[in-house]
Amino acid sequence: MNLKTQISNTIKKYKICNKHEKVLVALSGGKDSTVCAYMLHKLGYNLEGFHINLGLGAYSERCEKSTKELCTQLEIKLYVYDFTKKHGSSMCYLRTTIQSKKALKNCAICGVIKKYIINKEARILKADKIATGHHLDDEAQTFFLNILKGAPELSASTGPLTRNISDKKFIPRIKPLFFCFEEDIKNFAKQKKLPVVYEPCPCALDSYRLQVRNFFKTLSTKEKKNIINNFDKIKDKIKKQSGKMNYCKICGEPTRKKICKRCELIKN
Ligand code: SF4
Ligand SMILES: [Zn+2]
Repeated sequence: MNLKTQISNTIKKYKICNKHEKVLVALSGGKDSTVCAYMLHKLGYNLEGFHINLGLGAYSERCEKSTKELCTQLEIKLYVYDFTKKHGSSMCYLRTTIQSKKALKNCAICGVIKKYIINKEARILKADKIATGHHLDDEAQTFFLNILKGAPELSASTGPLTRNISDKKFIPRIKPLFFCFEEDIKNFAKQKKLPVVYEPCPCALDSYRLQVRNFFKTLSTKEKKNIINNFDKIKDKIKKQSGKMNYCKICGEPTRKKICKRCELIKN
């Protein structure tokens, strides 16, 4: 099955979006989100792009340039969120400040803050869905990592459409590439000569995930697919996190706790 058919089937089977909805694609400048936007556009969905320039020097500038090229090519609107301008410092600086008090990995901090920004901005932009470029390899790795952490329930709400959260302040997240292999995505991006930054993020230093990623390189596509299929079979039995949403006592954004993860990170 080719990539386009696979994505189209995922969208239909899991009813993750329809053509009347506004889908905001979180564009990093990398191959996955680029192919995600390209395919959704080719399939006729109503798209806009959203990019966060994290202020990671020349790397961030190259990423922003790629997303601009892509959106010009697809003739879709692009919103660029300049992290340094909005926060008065780059993601690097904010992260280092947090790490001086809390022993957390770069991506753990950056991931929480990016998710927070995207949800908030998507709401302001009146998007119905947020699309990300997560693919089968990402999802299988995350599921595997959560098992290694002893917390499979962290995967309970994952899927092509984020389940289990229903709140007016929360914009549902969709993963149209959920069943696509990373290798196929990469080959497609190269074949179409899409504007993509292939170098890895200079801050991606999560050694635990890198170890798992390296282990996954030794697995066949069938084995990786088996992980996802097995996960699909058991996910309804995994104890889910409470579906009840609260609003953060500090910032008012949706959270399952009293204080959201982002405010938890940045408070003293
Ligand atoms: S790889 Fe990690 S540090 Fe780099 S942008 Fe992604 S989450 Fe942030
Ligand atoms: Zn908060």
